[in-house]
Amino acid sequence: MPKRPLKHIPAVEITDTQTWDQPGSFRWLREWPTGEDIVGMGYLCPCGCGTAGEIRFARLGEVPRSPTLKWDGNREHPTIAPAFTHVVAGQTHWCGILQRGEWIGVTYDLNAPP
Ligand SMILES: [Zn+2]
Repeated sequence: MPKRPLKHIPAVEITDTQTWDQPGSFRWLREWPTGEDIVGMGYLCPCGCGTAGEIRFARLGEVPRSPTLKWDGNREHPTIAPAFTHVVAGQTHWCGILQRGEWIGVTYDLNAPP
């Protein structure tokens, strides 16, 4: 599988009325039904394939899940750790972390020229 070096992709927040068109764009997921607390994020795969993924953050008082992803609370330039993987149909598309508003990771692009 071709492997590219570390790549930085800006995480751009989009609103409900905007369309998902930019790799790495995201929207906050809010607690239902109050809509008050941010409980995770939906994002477009940073690799550019157009598939969407979801991250649920670890929350206080909740049984830890694996992996337990933590958000630093910064809405403009979010950091989420530890590293996680975006998998589509058994293929790893992207693996890395979200740090200060940038997706930083190693991309795996099956269609990339060698
Ligand atoms: Zn992808």
